Amino acid sequence: MVTLLHTHNETETRELARRLASVTPPGGRVLLDGDLGAGKTTFTQGFVGGLTQLEVVRVKSPTYALCHAYKTSPRVWHADLYRLHGPDDVEMLGVFASVTAEDILIVEWADRAPGLITDALHVLLEMDGEEGRRITLSASGPISTSMLEKLGQ
Ligand code: ADP
Ligand code: MG
Repeated sequence: MVTLLHTHNETETRELARRLASVTPPGGRVLLDGDLGAGKTTFTQGFVGGLTQLEVVRVKSPTYALCHAYKTSPRVWHADLYRLHGPDDVEMLGVFASVTAEDILIVEWADRAPGLITDALHVLLEMDGEEGRRITLSASGPISTSMLEKLGQ
């Protein structure tokens, strides 16, 4: 299942991510891809903001930490695989070692580790002018398909 969307500015991208967060069940996985500056971290900010009561959640790319958790309910882990070279790196470094089956996981540069996470909602962000973004959402299993269906309702 694939859905094509378009946002006109970063506020719309955050809002889309917030809506996705609201249909993400415990154990939901979201994989982000797209060039540097496409909006993966911006998307993550909206997503984490959608899972917490706090008004402001500052999300920075965990470029050095690789993966870190937010005190949301359910807990959400944010990973950035930019500096890694493949699934072997991800596994060797134990990037996802602390992520439980009930936690939500959102991953920037997910294509660094193809096939490592099986049932996931894949989000591809592509620039369309300075502030426009083409956003392709695709599901690869029952949980992510259900997320995509709920997002479209
Ligand atoms: P990435 O994590 O993919 O490298 P960032 O989210 O860090 O990208 O940066 C995206 C930049 O593009 C931000 O400066 C943001 O303000 C800007 N931007 C402009 N239009 C959009 C849009 N429609 N969606 C997301 N970000 C946008
Ligand atoms: Mg980023």
